[in-house]
Amino acid sequence: MQVRNKAVKKLLGHYREISLLGKTEAVLGWDLNVNLPPKASGDRAEQISQLTSIITDKWHDTEFRETLEGLVSDTSNLNQYERAIVRNLVYASKFYYRVPKKIIVRFSDTTSKSFMAWQQARKDDNFKAFLPHLRRVIELNVQIAEHLGYEDNPYDALLDLYEQGLTTREMGNVFKILKNEISLLLKTIKKSKHYGNETQLLSRENTYSKSDQEKIALFALEKIGYDLDAGRMDVSAHPFTTHFSVNDVRITNRYGESDFTESIMVALHEGGHALYEQGVDPSYEHTPLSGGVSLGIHESQSRFWENQIGRSREFAKFLTPVLKSFYPGQLRGVEELDIYRKFNIVRPSLVRVEADEVTYNLHVALRFDLENKLINGKVAAKDLPEIWRSMMKSYLGVVPQTDADGVMQDVHWSYGSFGYFPTYTLGNLYAAQFTQKMSRDFPLKKLVEAGNLTSILRWQRKNIHRHGSLYWPDEMIKKVTSKPLDPNYFVKYLKRKYTKLYS
Ligand code: MG
Repeated sequence: MQVRNKAVKKLLGHYREISLLGKTEAVLGWDLNVNLPPKASGDRAEQISQLTSIITDKWHDTEFRETLEGLVSDTSNLNQYERAIVRNLVYASKFYYRVPKKIIVRFSDTTSKSFMAWQQARKDDNFKAFLPHLRRVIELNVQIAEHLGYEDNPYDALLDLYEQGLTTREMGNVFKILKNEISLLLKTIKKSKHYGNETQLLSRENTYSKSDQEKIALFALEKIGYDLDAGRMDVSAHPFTTHFSVNDVRITNRYGESDFTESIMVALHEGGHALYEQGVDPSYEHTPLSGGVSLGIHESQSRFWENQIGRSREFAKFLTPVLKSFYPGQLRGVEELDIYRKFNIVRPSLVRVEADEVTYNLHVALRFDLENKLINGKVAAKDLPEIWRSMMKSYLGVVPQTDADGVMQDVHWSYGSFGYFPTYTLGNLYAAQFTQKMSRDFPLKKLVEAGNLTSILRWQRKNIHRHGSLYWPDEMIKKVTSKPLDPNYFVKYLKRKYTKLYS
């Protein structure tokens, strides 16, 4: 990275402090999710909010802000790196500069309380207890959208917080295509003789020890190229990836003794996120170019390893003997095809995080439609449980019996995130388009079947990882695949795979 401009150098010096404080906050967040004794949750919230307040003040530093504004007015003398640094700082600072600090502080306080209320309300299946919190969170999001500004739709301002420049119209068009194609594919799948009868793999009385599952997960992680000397895998209720530097990228997993398959998929998913962060050019460290560029591109790296590779026929072939060496008794007589089918059972279901590759995006489409209505005042928070049930019926053909498995299943709204969900679908789309290019560049399937995965990581490092946040998502996809994002790559992938599996 070459930075010569004096003003940009000054920004980098100040930003380094913001970044270091942010990473310190992330350590507290990791510890909160992995280690924290229950009684300490209030203390930890206070420690974190103290840091948030210091970081907000750092963004508001007058000299920093004036230097940035000076650069924005004339970028003609800047090189590619300097321009990207300024662009990323403008994007990241928008929230702090446009939204009044009073609202930022209220938002932070409201969402901490709402997150705690959601945890209890979900446990008790008591939507009424969550409702006043949710109402406040929605109101604050509407106010934030107004302060951020937008052209057509206030929801656009929120979408942009998670994926640069994403609009309701653009995402709506993507979902229109996906909803159509997926419902047609589902009809075909449901007519298959395999539907409802995919595999008997886990129907026996077998258990699979947690320590073996951990060993298999670590084996898979080493295989895909995750550097355990620059990371670690712990246990948490909800698996996640976090990073404090390019040398410290951590993931978590969870283990259920009746099913060994979930922890493998979690390891591949979180491992995909982690490979991205471990692969960013180290000279970007603590600059606005460090880290993955957007949630959508980040999710493409995790979905790639989890779905495009982990749920492929070739990977099942490679993995089956490994699994049998760990569970020779439990998996006696089990064949590669059983493993492949188990990883790819399609079934419309209630809970997004448990959904298969085919129905998953319908869960996201539902949330996108609903968020758009909520932010535009077309749906009242109190009516959400009822609306959720009727939308589930129309999107997926299943209806939850409880609000815990319905409108309260996701954490996102409780901590204030509206506009986040679509990035999951974008991740699936980017992943399919990248994979298509990758398989034109080298014999992907053959290498996966042989368990030779090093060329994949080399390709990702060169084309995606090392660039960090240098290219925004629309530039990145064009640079790598020579085309803008096109949902048809994903549609074709789903159709080919699942019509064969359910023929
Ligand atoms: Mg993810």
